[in-house]
Amino acid sequence: MIITSAYKEKIIERAGLALRQGKLVIFPTETVYGIGAAAKNSNAVAKLYEVKNRPSFNPLIVHCANQEMAFKLVKVTKLAKKLSDAFWPGPMSLVLTCLENSPVCPLARAGLDSIALRIPANPICKQLLEVAGIPIVAPSANLSGELSPTDVKHLKNEIVKHCAEVIDAGRCSKGIESTIVDARNEIPVILRPGPITEEDIKTQINMQCFHSNQSQLDSPISPGQLASHYAPSAKLRLNATQKKQGEVFIGFNSPNADFNLTETGDLLESAANLFDMLHMADKQNPVRIAVAPIPNDGIGEAINERLARAAAPRDNLIKNPEEYKT
Ligand code: AMP
Ligand code: MG
Repeated sequence: MIITSAYKEKIIERAGLALRQGKLVIFPTETVYGIGAAAKNSNAVAKLYEVKNRPSFNPLIVHCANQEMAFKLVKVTKLAKKLSDAFWPGPMSLVLTCLENSPVCPLARAGLDSIALRIPANPICKQLLEVAGIPIVAPSANLSGELSPTDVKHLKNEIVKHCAEVIDAGRCSKGIESTIVDARNEIPVILRPGPITEEDIKTQINMQCFHSNQSQLDSPISPGQLASHYAPSAKLRLNATQKKQGEVFIGFNSPNADFNLTETGDLLESAANLFDMLHMADKQNPVRIAVAPIPNDGIGEAINERLARAAAPRDNLIKNPEEYKT
């Protein structure tokens, strides 16, 4: 059922409150239906990854009500200002460097120091973001590996049952995911093509774009700089049962840990703490970061996948953001 104005205000009010309380909400954007969580709340974000049943973490797009809310989170470049003035609100996500002490939790960024930001144009979504008053992360509201929903009738009960509200606003007008543009430098780099095209950018702001797969010869930004996942500078030793000399030990319900992902064996809590603790451990410049074994159940699989990547030799890093598409 498409919501009518009589119900609309009430549902949006309830959904905004639910998001502020750390609950999950499904809402429309002009691209696809998203499943949203408060970007600052690592427990809510961990829950979101769990509900999507994804075997790995990927950085999530942060949705804001307006430019002011969005630009409080990042270092604003001239290019970002130009692109946002031209295309926001609309289906374009801008990747920018996040500010130190950014309220967007590290899990939402998958540990990266960048954030993809977007201001959706869908009026119901805009109203929800205004009512919520906080930045909201929202990947598509489908289980991992399945198609993104462009209508509420595509939503699966496995997802819906974990959400406090579902806002139905009919079919999404664009139906494909937002264009993602790296706006950290002087020239726009298209990381993912989408409804706003390279030609649109050329027409509107008279700028030529690079692509994330262009070689360093063509582009001042190497694709390697766009690495889509965080790896600490210290080496990792996985499945460690105790700390060796010079190591910092990240535990899982371990009494002797320097940082304990959980004290009760809670995997959701561990996911919520993962990137924060890796960053804190790395800051101590240890010989190595030792990490206790993590059970491979549920969201534990995503934790282990991320740890394995962080522990892999650095030239094996997967650098293509498209691999993290959900
Ligand atoms: P979506 O599938 O529409 O939810 O978009 C998520 C995708 O946005 C991720 O899989 C990445 O490809 C991209 N993304 C999100 N945040 C970042 C970031 N900080 N840096 C680069 N790409 C990002
Ligand atoms: Mg999707």
